[in-house]
Amino acid sequence: MVVYFNDYQKLKKEKNLLQCQLLVIKSNHMFIDTHCHLDFDIFDQTRLSLLQDCQNNDITHFINPATSFDRWQKVIEITQKHSNITPALGLHPVFIEQHDKNHLDLLADWLDTHSIKIVGEIGLDKRIADFPKQQSFFQAQLELAEQYKKPVIIHSVKSHNEIIQILKSIKFTQGGIIHAFNGNINTAKSYAHLGFKLGIGTLLHYPHSKIAKDISQFHIDWLVLESDAPDMPLPKKKNKINTPLSILQTFMCLHAKLSLPKTYLAQKLYHNSLTLIS
Ligand SMILES: [Zn+2]
Repeated sequence: MVVYFNDYQKLKKEKNLLQCQLLVIKSNHMFIDTHCHLDFDIFDQTRLSLLQDCQNNDITHFINPATSFDRWQKVIEITQKHSNITPALGLHPVFIEQHDKNHLDLLADWLDTHSIKIVGEIGLDKRIADFPKQQSFFQAQLELAEQYKKPVIIHSVKSHNEIIQILKSIKFTQGGIIHAFNGNINTAKSYAHLGFKLGIGTLLHYPHSKIAKDISQFHIDWLVLESDAPDMPLPKKKNKINTPLSILQTFMCLHAKLSLPKTYLAQKLYHNSLTLIS
């Protein structure tokens, strides 16, 4: 039994066909890629045509998180050129070696002066050395986000327990997205209770991933689509550069796993994502 079917099923049951139709018609199947690195140099030659391809395929908006201080300027420039790309600024745990305490002060300045809506990509990654430094930078950025009332984009690799513990200990209230979420239903519930959406991307295509196994139990209000382009290509395109277009396949995969009407599902995902950027 899945809970998220409620709105649609309730309307259907009540034979409120007009409202039911409205729920469906309202959506034009527009999609938002809530996590892609379009600032990466690998897209310099193709960015314009890629954005056009996305537009032609109804992918109308993107969130572009930054990875380290030296990328911030380019992220800002790209998002100034393309108003449908929302920037997030932050210090990514995978590049922890490059981060300096000074960058935290700069983050506070940039959030202020560039009217940035989201802090990211921040988080913890157990594959990367210097976990204590990661924890200290993660907590400092969360505290900044709380102070400036910004949602965050969190990268978590084998670190859900530590992340949930820090979020609770500092009483973080701004929510955000758990990027490339790959946890079970209990972890998903914990994040949802803390006000987070779960980024669903190419991991869903791997039948043995935790997310593929448990997704049918997730509430639809928790979910947003993401590509992580140029990383995390689809299983059959492992050596290729991933692009935001892959969220269309992830959408179809999600549609198959949840057995929800396509338009209803697309509309829900779109609105879940809008809460982050509007
Ligand atoms: Zn990323």
